[in-house]
Amino acid sequence: DKARVVVVGGGFGGATAAKYVRLLSDHKIDVVLIEPNEAFVSCPLSNLVVGGSRQMPEITTPYTGLSRRHGITVVRDSATRLDTAARRVHLAGGGSIGYDKLVVSPGIDLLLDRVEGLAAAHQQGRVLHAWKAGPETVQLRRQLEALPDGGVFAITIPEQPYRCPPGPYERACQVAWYFKQRKPRSKVLVLDANPDVTSKGALFKRAWAELYPGMVEYRPQHALEAVDARTGTLKFAVNDDVKAGVLNVLPPMRAGSFAVQAGLNNLANNRWCGVNYLTFESTVHRDVHVLGDSIQIAPGMPKSGHMANNHGKVAAAAIVAQLAGLPPNPAPMLTNTCYSFVDDQRVMHVASVHGWDAADRTFKTVPGSGGLSPAASELEGTYALSWARNIWADMLA
Ligand code: FAD
Repeated sequence: DKARVVVVGGGFGGATAAKYVRLLSDHKIDVVLIEPNEAFVSCPLSNLVVGGSRQMPEITTPYTGLSRRHGITVVRDSATRLDTAARRVHLAGGGSIGYDKLVVSPGIDLLLDRVEGLAAAHQQGRVLHAWKAGPETVQLRRQLEALPDGGVFAITIPEQPYRCPPGPYERACQVAWYFKQRKPRSKVLVLDANPDVTSKGALFKRAWAELYPGMVEYRPQHALEAVDARTGTLKFAVNDDVKAGVLNVLPPMRAGSFAVQAGLNNLANNRWCGVNYLTFESTVHRDVHVLGDSIQIAPGMPKSGHMANNHGKVAAAAIVAQLAGLPPNPAPMLTNTCYSFVDDQRVMHVASVHGWDAADRTFKTVPGSGGLSPAASELEGTYALSWARNIWADMLA
């Protein structure tokens, strides 16, 4: 009677956990991965597709590595309901699957209803977020292509915490890179609910000033309240209205809807899921481990793919240990590197290391670890592409 681990979500957290449970158990534990998409599409590098220097096939990887090379059963479906008493996950397609251990890594939900008019505008395809790489990434690219020279692209950023702290500023760079070549009279407006650029602030501001002088304008403390897609207007709590030809609205975010439906979102006004960081086991339900962007993070821990990949490994090791009746690793460590492309070649990074603090029972940034690029460079561009290829292989090959 083999133990079975069921994983909900084949992204950075879930795919990594699925593969590493197989590897660390010498293929003795059965793993079932539930994922509705046919292939994995990476958010990292998706801003380059928006900017036009990369295409969708370059950020897409099939799930066949997990099934063929690692013997994982990949079920193309969505999990709809968790029954912890019966230890079963129910699927949209009808059936259900029993588990000994469940891993939940469904990413984020975008709270469209927190901005007046946004849900309808998004439904009509007029105002996109493109914060889950896929069809919207391509649609946003098309909107930029249709914008006349002299037009305005406006991106709004919600208060922290949100998925990928540097991501919106990288997107501003990519859109500016496109405009500089093809629509040099156009403008990029960055409208941020936060008091300053959330990540790599000085580096981004320098990139905007040096590479795109007069083209990118950054405005802090802009809390978005409403969108009028018909007139292309953004309305803010205190600031003046802004009009733009392409509106890219990133609304507030919370744990992916399956985590919410399963009642795992017990922290931060029910936006994020509390976990025991030694095992990533939910503080609501036993034998349910939550990973990635859905969890409540300790200070300094970003919501990133690199971190979700690390969560997947710590959780897989803990699950394999627990199923063997052993204690988990008493001192896990997490690392993070986030690269940002300022044009089609040049990149800068931020890195950090997070060690387990037994006294305070949380992860803390290791003093003196990590750091920032001195400036964006082409050498780091090669590192960033290697990082992407390596992490996709680590998850999926
Ligand atoms: P995801 O990777 O989103 O995976 C969730 C998966 O769950 C999806 O495949 C989804 O289809 C599936 N799912 C959802 N609901 C269900 C359900 N009910 N049943 C079954 N499956 C379900 N991070 C970096 O480290 N470096 C970067 O350079 C970087 N750049 C980024 C750029 C952009 C533009 C964006 C938007 C993000 C970027 N990120 C980056 C962040 C990174 O993409 C996320 O932090 C990461 O995807 C989180 O992993 P996850 O497993 O929580 O969610």
